[in-house]
Amino acid sequence: MTPLNVLAVASEVFPLIKTGGLADVAGALPEALAAQGIAVRTLLPGYRPVLDALEGGVAVASLDELFGGPARIVAARAAGLELFVIDAPRLYARDGDPYRGPDGRDWPDNAFRFAALSRVAALLAQDAVPGYRVDVVHAHDWQAGLLPAYLHYAGASHPASVMTIHNLAFQGQFPAGLLGPLGLPTDAYSTDGVEYYGAIGFLKAGVLFADRITTVSPTYAAEICTPSGGMGMHGLLRSRLDVLNGILNAIDIAVWDPAHDPHLVAHFDADLPTARSANKAALQERFGLRRGPDKPLFAVISRLTEQKGIDLVLAALPALLASGGQLVLLGSGDAWLQNALQQAAAAHRDAIGLQFGYDEGLAHLIQGGCDVLLMPSRFEPCGLTQLCAMRYGALPIVAHVGGLCDTVIDANEMALAEGIGTGFHFSPAVPEMLASAIMRAHAIWRRPELWHQLQQNAMRLDVGWNGPAAKYAAMYRELAGVRG
Ligand code: ADP
Repeated sequence: MTPLNVLAVASEVFPLIKTGGLADVAGALPEALAAQGIAVRTLLPGYRPVLDALEGGVAVASLDELFGGPARIVAARAAGLELFVIDAPRLYARDGDPYRGPDGRDWPDNAFRFAALSRVAALLAQDAVPGYRVDVVHAHDWQAGLLPAYLHYAGASHPASVMTIHNLAFQGQFPAGLLGPLGLPTDAYSTDGVEYYGAIGFLKAGVLFADRITTVSPTYAAEICTPSGGMGMHGLLRSRLDVLNGILNAIDIAVWDPAHDPHLVAHFDADLPTARSANKAALQERFGLRRGPDKPLFAVISRLTEQKGIDLVLAALPALLASGGQLVLLGSGDAWLQNALQQAAAAHRDAIGLQFGYDEGLAHLIQGGCDVLLMPSRFEPCGLTQLCAMRYGALPIVAHVGGLCDTVIDANEMALAEGIGTGFHFSPAVPEMLASAIMRAHAIWRRPELWHQLQQNAMRLDVGWNGPAAKYAAMYRELAGVRG
């Protein structure tokens, strides 16, 4: 089969720059797709850590004007990925994360910073680099949402496009007055264009103009077409149902491999999950918790936001602690949640351990040592953390929403009888139901044989990229050659 050239466009790519699951997906998919005969090049902004990581960069194009100044497009490799990077320091060389400054506020010029990503992608898609021909463009999230619109308004022949929604909560809306400055024609400001509730909607534009729309789980694909899950976009999404698909996310099973993970104190696999106990002891010691194998260790690894249901964890804490459980939490996010967690931890120093911030290594150790991972999200497009947990033999307690439904098998009576559970669901997402799921998990944890059976089910699940990559590859092949 002739390899297809796919240009992926993303604002973050693991391991170069990451704030969430989007980076994991953009980082892992290219290798999995290579095995399917798809050659992916990823375009991303030249943030400092990205430029610093490049190996053998070559400038393949120079632009005199990209939203206020010149820019170079650099082709390079880094961390095994084939990249195009936009070298435009005035847009990307800043302290803070890709979206916000150190004060926590969005960068005021985000419309231009990410329109630039789409603008450059559109140029690449229209053969701006000699010798590089794109068969399909794949835009990830609102940051790349203008790409299908730029291609549409360019009018000329261009490759087919895919728009993937990783989280509909982030839509990228900017003032209508930016239409001209963003290089969009006047007639683009309409419901059949980029207009969205009186503003310019980047994700809206992508959803409207892309040839295919995907999101990251089948259940989330259905949820976003309903008024309660559609966050204002359900009408448009329903009108595009014929091209909307849910393809589950996966994890990089070489990075998340409990038999070889350098961050673990003790390695283990599905045949010997009991070796996890040394990791649990290391966690208890690190967080100053009472040591011993007799207490179930619950964990949270998450952005600390309402979406992730961290307030539900706080409300269910009394039940968790009353039954002898312990909690470790790694995360960063909303200040009010951090404060409330700190207060709870101060009252229970030997049972609650907190670390605020981002720590990849600690995330691995927690997955390798905790008994139960809590993921009480109010909505969850796919969720990766529960996949890592299952691979590491930590059973997830998840809210019955989105991708959590599609990836975790509830260990209810029937599943236990069939020997197929991999975790615990609860619904609706309220503290009482989370507390009751915690009790249910605790009761099963006290029956080691049954617990080990569930751990083995979870650890033997296929959570790698081969299956999903085959679905993306099939979609690309269907689209390739369809030049609009
Ligand atoms: P999100 O909505 O944040 O993308 P996902 O579950 O899809 O949620 O992906 C989150 C990813 O980020 C997982 O790989 C998880 O382990 C990781 N993660 C989240 N918070 C932290 C943290 N504070 N430190 C390290 N890793 C984290």
